[in-house]
Amino acid sequence: MWLRKKQSVVIFCRIVYGTRDIMDDVVLTFDVDWAPDFMIEYVVDMLVDRGIKSTWFITHDSPATRALLCNTLVEVGIHPSFELADAHWTGGYSDVINRLLEIVPDAKSVRTHKLAQSHEILGTLSTHGLEIDSSLYLPRMSHVVPFDVAYSDGNKHNLVRVPFIWTEATEMSTSSPFLRSHVPRAPGLKVFAFHPVHIYLNSRTMKQYRQLQKLRGYPCCSQEDVTQFISHRSGTKSMFVHVLDNTEEQTKTLSEIVSEWQKKRNEMVPCVEHGTLIYGTIPTSVMSR
Ligand SMILES: [Zn+2]
Repeated sequence: MWLRKKQSVVIFCRIVYGTRDIMDDVVLTFDVDWAPDFMIEYVVDMLVDRGIKSTWFITHDSPATRALLCNTLVEVGIHPSFELADAHWTGGYSDVINRLLEIVPDAKSVRTHKLAQSHEILGTLSTHGLEIDSSLYLPRMSHVVPFDVAYSDGNKHNLVRVPFIWTEATEMSTSSPFLRSHVPRAPGLKVFAFHPVHIYLNSRTMKQYRQLQKLRGYPCCSQEDVTQFISHRSGTKSMFVHVLDNTEEQTKTLSEIVSEWQKKRNEMVPCVEHGTLIYGTIPTSVMSR
């Protein structure tokens, strides 16, 4: 009897709240990584032309990063680099976070540079008012959903973690990079992490980027300096355009995705089938059996 009841719940979850109903959005995110303004503006223009929403994790103050704050299609989060935080900065992680929050005081979202993460880092982010972290990389993983973790500094702070499943750096390391068939299409949340420099260069390998750093002192370089390093084969930009062309009109920022997930979660109960956690609502008729 119990088994029949459980099976009914699982079947109901699958039918009514199948993965597509839970989260199947394509979410575009960008790690600024100190890119020059002309690269940031280049990417923003492509998104605005198509009316596509996006989330940007900024590393510095500049006219282009300030302009992101006024763009209604954009959510601005922070991209702190903790590489030197322990060794050289007496303020540690808080100092790095506070410097970026001076630029984006209302930031809710964060992805750490080089995906630095530890219990201490994530806890410090949550106690500075950041609510959403996207520093977890699950390459090409299907059925991705957000999840939350509680941290405490005396008061409880929840950090919702939204993993990303694709970034160009991994694509560059494959033997036949940037094939259209490599775009993840499996069910679940599909968060892409792009870098403006690689879109601008249409990077196919890291070689273009490293040469630009070595020969032109990137990121302190002009648009003219960069021209010779742009690839005309399939690369990051061609993949980016392919993703844009195949993205439904109703795009969302990370905060919007999390709000939607929180709302749905309040109406659902977890079900486990074959080791996979899915969410569904138990219909009254099943509960009363
Ligand atoms: Zn970074």
